[in-house]
Amino acid sequence: MGGVEEAIVRAAQFFSNDAAVVCLTGAGVSAESGVPTFRDAQTGLWSRFDAEELATPQGFERDPGLVWRWYMWRLEQVGAAAPNPGHRALAELARLCEAFLLVTQNVDDLHEQAGSADVLHLHGSLFNFRCAACAAPHHLTVEERGADSPPACGLCGDLVRPDVVWFGESLPWDAVEEAAAAAHGCDVMLVVGTSGLVYPASQLPLVARQGGAMVIDVNPEPGPISSIADIFLLGKSGEVLPALARAVRELRAEL
Ligand code: NAD
Repeated sequence: MGGVEEAIVRAAQFFSNDAAVVCLTGAGVSAESGVPTFRDAQTGLWSRFDAEELATPQGFERDPGLVWRWYMWRLEQVGAAAPNPGHRALAELARLCEAFLLVTQNVDDLHEQAGSADVLHLHGSLFNFRCAACAAPHHLTVEERGADSPPACGLCGDLVRPDVVWFGESLPWDAVEEAAAAAHGCDVMLVVGTSGLVYPASQLPLVARQGGAMVIDVNPEPGPISSIADIFLLGKSGEVLPALARAVRELRAEL
């Protein structure tokens, strides 16, 4: 890792016992678990599929079966994935810090599987379903998972949809408010594996910076977040984050 090693040690110094840390993760943190990101040119989902058809309310209205089958495929893919060392290192960092809020744009459950508690999901979850009309929660049966089209809501009869945020839809307001308040008041904003292109999550590092926080970005590619970050840790989260957690542990042992 070379120069990154030195930057990791520099970053670790900000994770003091009493530092308030907010961590924002994106699809990149799950890439090493085999879950494809959205925007990577070769492997990203949007290089192979049409977001307009699959991840908008209009696409669902036009062809609910197509959207349903795509989400069932993603559910299967994510259901078969296991957390990687990056997810586990974030759970460890949370245990090492008194105040640590994990905010994710991911719709998988790999942070929870790795032992992170109280994860704030800004874009919903692939494992939750609700009625497209009355929003009543719906528990999927095995048959519904294998079906070619979405089931009907038990309450109003409209179609059931994945409880994820699609393009053009609003984010859960309470989650956004909690994330923004925490970002404004934090000492350290750790950003991991996000392209920083999806609003409003992309604003959280800026809010943190305006509030006086140290912004640390972990990504194998430079991007809009690394350009405003105080420390850019160039590399894969599955390699950089375990090294960061180790460096924080070592600093604590020296005290
Ligand atoms: P994105 O696809 O726009 O960007 C992924 C980022 O991860 C890029 O900056 C890329 O350089 C980086 N990356 C790739 N491999 C990495 C690695 N090993 N370690 C660290 N970083 C790596 O994803 P985004 O910014 O999260 O975009 C937001 C949208 O993506 C959200 O709507 C989210 O719901 C959705 N999404 C979630 C999942 C998931 O839940 N796992 C998967 C795909 C997309």
